[in-house]
Amino acid sequence: MLCLLSSSSTSHVLSLYKIFSLQSLILTRPSSHLPFSTMSINLSSHAFAGNPIISKTPKPSDPFSPNSAFQTLKTLLSSHTHEPSSPNFKVLPFRKGRPLARSTGDLAPNWHLGWLSLGDCKTLLENSEVNLIEESLVYLGSKSEDDVVYWAIDVSEASGLVNELGSRQFCFVELRTLMVATDWVDARAMGELAIAGHARALLEWHNISRFCGHCGGKTVPMEAGRRKQCSNESCKKRIYPRVDPVVIMLVIDRENDRALLSKQSRFVPRMWSCLAGFIEPGESLEEAVRRETWEETGIEVGEVIYHSSQPWPVGPSSMPCQLMVGFFAYAKSLEINVDKEELEDAKWQSREDVKKALALAEYKKAQKTSATKVDHMCKGVEKGQSLSADFNVESGELAPMFFPGPFAIAHHLISSWANQVGVNGVEAKQPTSSLSSL
Ligand SMILES: [Zn+2]
Repeated sequence: MLCLLSSSSTSHVLSLYKIFSLQSLILTRPSSHLPFSTMSINLSSHAFAGNPIISKTPKPSDPFSPNSAFQTLKTLLSSHTHEPSSPNFKVLPFRKGRPLARSTGDLAPNWHLGWLSLGDCKTLLENSEVNLIEESLVYLGSKSEDDVVYWAIDVSEASGLVNELGSRQFCFVELRTLMVATDWVDARAMGELAIAGHARALLEWHNISRFCGHCGGKTVPMEAGRRKQCSNESCKKRIYPRVDPVVIMLVIDRENDRALLSKQSRFVPRMWSCLAGFIEPGESLEEAVRRETWEETGIEVGEVIYHSSQPWPVGPSSMPCQLMVGFFAYAKSLEINVDKEELEDAKWQSREDVKKALALAEYKKAQKTSATKVDHMCKGVEKGQSLSADFNVESGELAPMFFPGPFAIAHHLISSWANQVGVNGVEAKQPTSSLSSL
Protein backbone atom coordinates (compact mmCIF):
# COMPACT_ATOMS: atom_id res chain seq x y z
CA MET A 1 0.00 0.00 0.00
CA LEU A 2 1.61 3.22 -1.12
CA CYS A 3 -1.28 5.54 -0.56
CA LEU A 4 -0.89 7.77 2.48
CA LEU A 5 -3.97 9.82 1.82
CA SER A 6 -6.07 7.43 3.76
CA SER A 7 -8.52 9.76 5.39
CA SER A 8 -10.41 12.89 4.57
CA SER A 9 -12.35 15.06 6.90
CA THR A 10 -14.05 18.37 6.45
CA SER A 11 -12.20 21.23 8.08
CA HIS A 12 -14.68 23.18 10.15
CA VAL A 13 -12.70 26.38 9.81
CA LEU A 14 -11.86 26.50 6.15
CA SER A 15 -14.52 24.19 4.77
CA LEU A 16 -11.74 22.67 2.77
CA TYR A 17 -10.54 19.14 3.06
CA LYS A 18 -7.77 17.80 5.17
CA ILE A 19 -6.09 14.93 3.44
CA PHE A 20 -3.15 14.24 5.66
CA SER A 21 -3.31 10.99 7.52
CA LEU A 22 -0.95 11.23 10.47
CA GLN A 23 -0.06 7.92 12.01
CA SER A 24 3.37 6.36 12.11
CA LEU A 25 6.48 5.68 10.11
CA ILE A 26 5.63 3.57 7.11
CA LEU A 27 8.22 1.82 5.04
CA THR A 28 6.69 0.65 1.82
CA ARG A 29 7.97 -2.51 0.29
CA PRO A 30 9.35 -2.75 -3.22
CA SER A 31 6.52 -3.54 -5.58
CA SER A 32 6.66 -5.50 -8.78
CA HIS A 33 4.96 -2.50 -10.40
CA LEU A 34 7.70 -0.08 -9.35
CA PRO A 35 11.44 -0.18 -10.06
CA PHE A 36 12.49 0.94 -6.57
CA SER A 37 11.32 1.05 -3.01
CA THR A 38 9.91 4.28 -1.66
CA MET A 39 10.19 5.49 1.89
CA SER A 40 7.28 7.45 3.19
CA ILE A 41 7.33 9.11 6.56
CA ASN A 42 4.06 9.70 8.25
CA LEU A 43 4.05 11.54 11.58
CA SER A 44 1.65 11.87 14.48
CA SER A 45 2.09 15.63 14.05
CA HIS A 46 4.38 18.02 12.24
CA ALA A 47 7.59 19.09 13.95
CA PHE A 48 6.77 21.97 16.35
CA ALA A 49 3.08 20.98 16.49
CA GLY A 50 1.64 18.58 19.08
CA ASN A 51 3.01 20.50 22.09
CA PRO A 52 2.13 18.27 25.09
CA ILE A 53 1.86 21.10 27.65
CA ILE A 54 -0.37 23.64 25.93
CA SER A 55 -3.33 21.62 24.74
CA LYS A 56 -5.57 22.54 27.67
CA THR A 57 -4.95 25.80 29.49
CA PRO A 58 -6.28 25.42 33.06
CA LYS A 59 -9.09 27.71 34.28
CA PRO A 60 -7.93 30.80 36.27
CA SER A 61 -8.83 29.24 39.65
CA ASP A 62 -6.66 26.17 38.97
CA PRO A 63 -3.20 26.31 40.66
CA PHE A 64 -1.67 25.29 37.30
CA SER A 65 -3.25 28.24 35.44
CA PRO A 66 -0.97 31.08 34.25
CA ASN A 67 -2.28 33.64 36.76
CA SER A 68 -2.33 31.28 39.79
CA ALA A 69 1.12 29.94 38.98
CA PHE A 70 2.42 33.49 38.55
CA GLN A 71 1.09 34.47 42.00
CA THR A 72 2.81 31.44 43.52
CA LEU A 73 6.00 32.36 41.69
CA LYS A 74 5.83 35.92 43.00
CA THR A 75 5.36 34.72 46.58
CA LEU A 76 8.25 32.28 46.27
CA LEU A 77 10.68 34.85 44.88
CA SER A 78 9.73 37.55 47.42
CA SER A 79 9.93 35.16 50.36
CA HIS A 80 13.28 33.78 49.18
CA THR A 81 11.83 30.30 49.20
CA HIS A 82 13.01 28.60 46.08
CA GLU A 83 10.90 25.52 45.67
CA PRO A 84 7.14 25.29 45.94
CA SER A 85 5.66 22.17 47.45
CA SER A 86 3.06 22.05 44.72
CA PRO A 87 3.04 22.61 41.82
CA ASN A 88 6.69 22.07 41.03
CA PHE A 89 8.27 24.73 38.76
CA LYS A 90 10.68 23.90 35.93
CA VAL A 91 12.50 26.60 33.96
CA LEU A 92 13.96 26.39 30.45
CA PRO A 93 16.69 29.00 29.83
CA PHE A 94 17.34 30.44 26.36
CA ARG A 95 20.38 32.34 25.22
CA LYS A 96 20.18 34.37 21.98
CA GLY A 97 17.24 32.26 20.79
CA ARG A 98 18.92 28.96 21.67
CA PRO A 99 17.33 26.61 24.22
CA LEU A 100 19.41 24.86 26.85
CA ALA A 101 19.91 21.18 25.98
CA ARG A 102 21.67 18.11 27.24
CA SER A 103 22.26 14.74 25.63
CA THR A 104 22.04 11.13 26.74
CA GLY A 105 22.98 7.80 25.20
CA ASP A 106 26.31 6.87 23.67
CA LEU A 107 25.46 4.66 20.70
CA ALA A 108 22.26 6.52 19.79
CA PRO A 109 22.45 9.98 21.36
CA ASN A 110 19.19 11.72 22.24
CA TRP A 111 18.94 15.37 23.13
CA HIS A 112 16.69 16.60 25.96
CA LEU A 113 15.65 20.05 27.06
CA GLY A 114 17.79 21.47 29.85
CA TRP A 115 15.10 22.10 32.46
CA LEU A 116 16.32 23.71 35.69
CA SER A 117 14.53 23.92 39.01
CA LEU A 118 13.45 27.43 40.03
CA GLY A 119 15.99 27.45 42.87
CA ASP A 120 18.81 26.29 40.61
CA CYS A 121 17.93 28.94 38.02
CA LYS A 122 17.91 31.68 40.68
CA THR A 123 21.29 30.61 42.08
CA LEU A 124 22.87 30.36 38.62
CA LEU A 125 21.64 33.85 37.72
CA GLU A 126 22.85 35.29 41.04
CA ASN A 127 26.28 33.82 40.32
CA SER A 128 26.20 35.90 37.11
CA GLU A 129 25.02 38.93 39.10
CA VAL A 130 21.52 38.83 37.61
CA ASN A 131 18.53 39.02 39.93
CA LEU A 132 15.66 36.70 39.03
CA ILE A 133 12.34 38.56 38.99
CA GLU A 134 8.95 37.05 38.23
CA GLU A 135 8.40 39.24 35.12
CA SER A 136 11.40 37.56 33.44
CA LEU A 137 9.65 34.21 33.43
CA VAL A 138 7.18 33.28 30.70
CA TYR A 139 4.52 30.66 31.37
CA LEU A 140 4.74 27.77 28.90
CA GLY A 141 2.15 25.31 30.17
CA SER A 142 1.60 22.64 32.76
CA LYS A 143 1.15 18.96 33.39
CA SER A 144 -1.10 18.53 36.39
CA GLU A 145 -0.59 14.76 36.34
CA ASP A 146 3.13 15.34 36.95
CA ASP A 147 2.47 18.31 39.27
CA VAL A 148 4.65 20.60 37.11
CA VAL A 149 4.33 24.13 35.69
CA TYR A 150 6.83 24.97 32.94
CA TRP A 151 8.47 28.38 32.38
CA ALA A 152 10.98 29.87 29.95
CA ILE A 153 13.51 32.63 30.58
CA ASP A 154 15.89 34.60 28.35
CA VAL A 155 19.30 34.57 30.06
CA SER A 156 21.25 36.21 27.21
CA GLU A 157 22.55 38.86 29.62
CA ALA A 158 24.01 36.35 32.05
CA SER A 159 27.11 35.36 30.10
CA GLY A 160 28.71 33.57 33.05
CA LEU A 161 26.01 30.92 32.82
CA VAL A 162 27.49 29.32 29.71
CA ASN A 163 30.60 28.01 31.41
CA GLU A 164 28.82 27.01 34.59
CA LEU A 165 26.19 25.05 32.66
CA GLY A 166 28.86 23.69 30.32
CA SER A 167 30.60 22.11 33.30
CA ARG A 168 27.37 20.16 33.88
CA GLN A 169 27.29 19.10 30.19
CA PHE A 170 24.46 21.48 29.29
CA CYS A 171 24.72 23.56 26.11
CA PHE A 172 22.69 26.26 24.35
CA VAL A 173 21.91 24.80 20.92
CA GLU A 174 20.32 26.38 17.83
CA LEU A 175 16.70 25.28 17.53
CA ARG A 176 17.27 24.39 13.87
CA THR A 177 20.06 22.02 14.87
CA LEU A 178 17.79 20.38 17.45
CA MET A 179 15.06 20.18 14.81
CA VAL A 180 17.29 18.21 12.43
CA ALA A 181 18.57 16.09 15.34
CA THR A 182 15.08 15.07 16.48
CA ASP A 183 14.05 11.49 15.82
CA TRP A 184 10.60 11.98 14.30
CA VAL A 185 9.27 8.64 15.55
CA ASP A 186 10.19 9.49 19.14
CA ALA A 187 7.09 11.12 20.64
CA ARG A 188 9.04 12.39 23.65
CA ALA A 189 11.60 14.13 21.46
CA MET A 190 8.95 15.60 19.16
CA GLY A 191 7.10 16.91 22.23
CA GLU A 192 10.26 18.56 23.58
CA LEU A 193 10.95 20.14 20.19
CA ALA A 194 7.42 21.59 20.15
CA ILE A 195 7.88 23.01 23.67
CA ALA A 196 11.21 24.58 22.67
CA GLY A 197 9.63 26.08 19.53
CA HIS A 198 6.73 27.58 21.47
CA ALA A 199 9.10 28.95 24.12
CA ARG A 200 11.44 30.49 21.55
CA ALA A 201 8.52 32.11 19.74
CA LEU A 202 7.22 33.68 22.97
CA LEU A 203 10.64 34.91 24.13
CA GLU A 204 11.54 36.37 20.71
CA TRP A 205 8.17 38.08 20.61
CA HIS A 206 8.86 39.62 24.04
CA ASN A 207 12.18 40.88 22.69
CA ILE A 208 10.63 42.63 19.67
CA SER A 209 7.59 44.08 21.47
CA ARG A 210 9.26 46.14 24.18
CA PHE A 211 7.39 49.31 23.17
CA CYS A 212 3.79 50.10 22.33
CA GLY A 213 3.17 50.55 18.60
CA HIS A 214 0.37 53.02 19.38
CA CYS A 215 1.98 55.53 21.78
CA GLY A 216 5.60 54.40 22.06
CA GLY A 217 5.28 53.71 25.82
CA LYS A 218 7.04 50.78 27.44
CA THR A 219 5.19 47.49 27.47
CA VAL A 220 4.99 45.17 30.46
CA PRO A 221 4.27 41.43 30.54
CA MET A 222 0.78 40.36 31.66
CA GLU A 223 -0.83 36.98 32.35
CA ALA A 224 2.50 35.37 33.19
CA GLY A 225 4.03 36.59 29.93
CA ARG A 226 1.28 35.31 27.65
CA ARG A 227 0.52 38.83 26.51
CA LYS A 228 1.83 42.36 27.03
CA GLN A 229 0.27 45.70 27.79
CA CYS A 230 1.30 49.31 27.33
CA SER A 231 2.35 50.84 30.66
CA ASN A 232 1.05 54.27 29.66
CA GLU A 233 -2.07 54.72 31.81
CA SER A 234 -3.89 56.66 29.09
CA CYS A 235 -3.18 53.96 26.49
CA LYS A 236 -3.02 50.48 28.10
CA LYS A 237 -3.03 48.86 24.67
CA ARG A 238 -3.08 45.06 24.84
CA ILE A 239 -0.52 43.27 22.69
CA TYR A 240 -0.71 39.58 21.84
CA PRO A 241 1.99 37.18 20.58
CA ARG A 242 2.58 37.47 16.87
CA VAL A 243 2.01 34.70 14.32
CA ASP A 244 2.85 35.28 10.64
CA PRO A 245 0.88 33.07 8.25
CA VAL A 246 2.62 31.75 5.15
CA VAL A 247 1.09 29.70 2.36
CA ILE A 248 3.22 26.82 1.09
CA MET A 249 2.02 24.89 -1.92
CA LEU A 250 2.90 21.99 -4.13
CA VAL A 251 1.72 23.00 -7.60
CA ILE A 252 0.55 19.93 -9.54
CA ASP A 253 0.13 19.27 -13.26
CA ARG A 254 -2.60 16.67 -13.00
CA GLU A 255 -2.69 15.80 -16.70
CA ASN A 256 1.01 14.98 -17.03
CA ASP A 257 1.48 13.65 -13.47
CA ARG A 258 4.13 16.20 -12.53
CA ALA A 259 4.77 18.61 -9.66
CA LEU A 260 6.43 22.01 -9.76
CA LEU A 261 9.53 22.22 -7.60
CA SER A 262 11.60 25.32 -7.07
CA LYS A 263 15.03 26.31 -5.93
CA GLN A 264 16.14 29.40 -4.07
CA SER A 265 19.67 30.76 -4.17
CA ARG A 266 19.90 30.41 -0.37
CA PHE A 267 19.21 26.66 -0.60
CA VAL A 268 22.11 24.21 -0.47
CA PRO A 269 22.98 22.76 -3.92
CA ARG A 270 20.50 20.22 -5.32
CA MET A 271 17.77 21.04 -2.81
CA TRP A 272 14.34 21.64 -4.32
CA SER A 273 11.17 22.52 -2.49
CA CYS A 274 7.63 23.89 -2.71
CA LEU A 275 6.68 27.48 -3.46
CA ALA A 276 5.79 29.62 -0.45
CA GLY A 277 4.90 33.19 0.40
CA PHE A 278 3.38 35.48 2.99
CA ILE A 279 -0.31 36.23 3.00
CA GLU A 280 -1.14 39.87 2.37
CA PRO A 281 -3.75 41.81 4.32
CA GLY A 282 -7.20 41.43 2.80
CA GLU A 283 -6.34 38.17 1.04
CA SER A 284 -7.71 34.67 1.50
CA LEU A 285 -5.38 31.69 1.79
CA GLU A 286 -6.47 30.40 -1.63
CA GLU A 287 -5.90 33.82 -3.22
CA ALA A 288 -2.41 33.95 -1.69
CA VAL A 289 -1.62 30.50 -3.17
CA ARG A 290 -2.70 31.65 -6.64
CA ARG A 291 -0.99 35.05 -6.44
CA GLU A 292 2.34 33.74 -5.14
CA THR A 293 2.44 30.95 -7.75
CA TRP A 294 1.67 33.43 -10.50
CA GLU A 295 4.23 35.99 -9.29
CA GLU A 296 7.05 33.49 -8.85
CA THR A 297 6.51 31.17 -11.80
CA GLY A 298 3.88 32.66 -14.14
CA ILE A 299 1.67 29.60 -13.67
CA GLU A 300 -2.07 29.98 -13.16
CA VAL A 301 -3.60 27.90 -10.40
CA GLY A 302 -7.21 26.69 -10.35
CA GLU A 303 -8.26 24.30 -7.61
CA VAL A 304 -6.59 24.73 -4.21
CA ILE A 305 -6.84 21.94 -1.62
CA TYR A 306 -5.82 22.27 2.04
CA HIS A 307 -3.30 19.70 3.29
CA SER A 308 -2.09 20.56 6.83
CA SER A 309 -0.35 23.34 8.78
CA GLN A 310 2.86 23.65 10.77
CA PRO A 311 4.11 26.20 13.32
CA TRP A 312 7.56 27.36 12.20
CA PRO A 313 9.45 29.11 15.02
CA VAL A 314 12.88 28.85 13.36
CA GLY A 315 12.61 31.79 11.00
CA PRO A 316 14.15 35.24 11.57
CA SER A 317 13.74 36.66 15.09
CA SER A 318 11.66 39.52 13.65
CA MET A 319 9.05 36.86 12.91
CA PRO A 320 8.93 34.81 16.11
CA CYS A 321 6.57 32.22 14.68
CA GLN A 322 5.38 31.64 11.16
CA LEU A 323 2.44 29.36 10.55
CA MET A 324 3.01 27.38 7.37
CA VAL A 325 -0.33 26.54 5.79
CA GLY A 326 0.13 23.77 3.23
CA PHE A 327 -1.85 23.22 0.03
CA PHE A 328 -1.99 21.21 -3.15
CA ALA A 329 -2.51 23.71 -5.98
CA TYR A 330 -3.65 22.42 -9.38
CA ALA A 331 -2.17 24.22 -12.37
CA LYS A 332 -4.37 25.66 -15.13
CA SER A 333 -1.37 26.70 -17.26
CA LEU A 334 1.97 24.92 -17.59
CA GLU A 335 4.50 27.35 -19.04
CA ILE A 336 7.06 28.41 -16.44
CA ASN A 337 8.29 31.98 -16.32
CA VAL A 338 10.57 32.24 -13.28
CA ASP A 339 10.85 35.51 -11.38
CA LYS A 340 14.63 35.47 -10.93
CA GLU A 341 14.44 37.91 -8.02
CA GLU A 342 12.38 35.42 -6.04
CA LEU A 343 13.67 32.07 -7.30
CA GLU A 344 16.79 30.61 -8.82
CA ASP A 345 14.84 28.05 -10.80
CA ALA A 346 11.54 26.15 -11.06
CA LYS A 347 10.89 22.93 -12.94
CA TRP A 348 8.18 20.35 -13.51
CA GLN A 349 9.34 17.04 -12.04
CA SER A 350 7.72 13.70 -12.82
CA ARG A 351 6.27 11.60 -10.04
CA GLU A 352 8.80 8.87 -10.76
CA ASP A 353 11.76 11.26 -10.40
CA VAL A 354 10.36 12.65 -7.15
CA LYS A 355 9.91 9.13 -5.79
CA LYS A 356 13.47 8.23 -6.76
CA ALA A 357 14.80 11.33 -4.98
CA LEU A 358 12.79 10.48 -1.86
CA ALA A 359 14.14 6.94 -1.89
CA LEU A 360 17.76 8.07 -2.22
CA ALA A 361 17.69 10.84 0.41
CA GLU A 362 19.24 9.85 3.71
CA TYR A 363 17.04 11.62 6.23
CA LYS A 364 17.66 9.11 8.99
CA LYS A 365 21.41 9.43 8.56
CA ALA A 366 21.15 13.24 8.70
CA GLN A 367 19.11 12.98 11.91
CA LYS A 368 21.63 10.68 13.57
CA THR A 369 24.58 12.81 12.48
CA SER A 370 22.94 15.90 13.98
CA ALA A 371 22.06 14.05 17.19
CA THR A 372 25.73 13.06 17.52
CA LYS A 373 26.75 16.66 16.89
CA VAL A 374 24.42 17.91 19.66
CA ASP A 375 25.85 15.21 21.92
CA HIS A 376 29.39 16.44 21.20
CA MET A 377 28.38 20.05 21.80
CA CYS A 378 26.82 19.19 25.17
CA LYS A 379 29.90 17.24 26.18
CA GLY A 380 32.18 20.06 25.10
CA VAL A 381 33.74 18.15 22.21
CA GLU A 382 32.36 20.39 19.44
CA LYS A 383 31.53 24.09 19.41
CA GLY A 384 30.28 24.67 15.87
CA GLN A 385 26.59 25.08 14.98
CA SER A 386 26.78 25.02 11.19
CA LEU A 387 24.03 23.15 9.42
CA SER A 388 25.75 22.59 6.11
CA ALA A 389 27.02 19.15 7.11
CA ASP A 390 23.49 18.05 8.00
CA PHE A 391 22.13 18.91 4.59
CA ASN A 392 25.03 17.32 2.77
CA VAL A 393 24.30 14.08 4.56
CA GLU A 394 20.59 14.48 3.96
CA SER A 395 20.99 14.79 0.21
CA GLY A 396 22.61 11.40 -0.26
CA GLU A 397 25.55 11.12 -2.61
CA LEU A 398 23.58 9.68 -5.51
CA ALA A 399 20.52 11.92 -5.51
CA PRO A 400 20.33 14.41 -8.39
CA MET A 401 17.93 16.40 -6.21
CA PHE A 402 16.60 16.18 -2.67
CA PHE A 403 13.89 17.81 -0.58
CA PRO A 404 13.75 19.27 2.93
CA GLY A 405 13.68 16.63 5.70
CA PRO A 406 10.63 15.26 7.55
CA PHE A 407 10.80 18.20 9.99
CA ALA A 408 9.36 20.47 7.25
CA ILE A 409 5.84 20.56 5.87
CA ALA A 410 7.33 20.81 2.35
CA HIS A 411 8.60 17.25 2.73
CA HIS A 412 5.11 15.97 3.54
CA LEU A 413 3.43 17.88 0.73
CA ILE A 414 5.91 16.39 -1.74
CA SER A 415 5.89 12.84 -0.34
CA SER A 416 2.09 12.77 0.08
CA TRP A 417 1.67 13.64 -3.59
CA ALA A 418 4.44 11.30 -4.77
CA ASN A 419 2.98 8.34 -2.90
CA GLN A 420 -0.68 8.83 -3.65
CA VAL A 421 -0.69 6.39 -6.54
CA GLY A 422 -1.71 2.84 -5.66
CA VAL A 423 0.24 -0.18 -6.91
CA ASN A 424 -2.20 -0.55 -9.79
CA GLY A 425 -1.11 2.87 -11.02
CA VAL A 426 -4.48 4.52 -10.51
CA GLU A 427 -4.38 7.90 -8.87
CA ALA A 428 -5.90 7.90 -5.39
CA LYS A 429 -9.26 9.60 -5.32
CA GLN A 430 -8.87 13.14 -4.12
CA PRO A 431 -11.44 15.18 -2.33
CA THR A 432 -12.60 18.25 -4.13
CA SER A 433 -13.36 21.54 -2.52
CA SER A 434 -16.67 23.30 -2.85
CA LEU A 435 -14.71 26.55 -2.57
CA SER A 436 -12.27 25.77 -5.36
CA SER A 437 -13.70 28.36 -7.69
CA LEU A 438 -13.39 31.24 -5.22
ZN1 LIG B 1 0.61 52.69 24.36
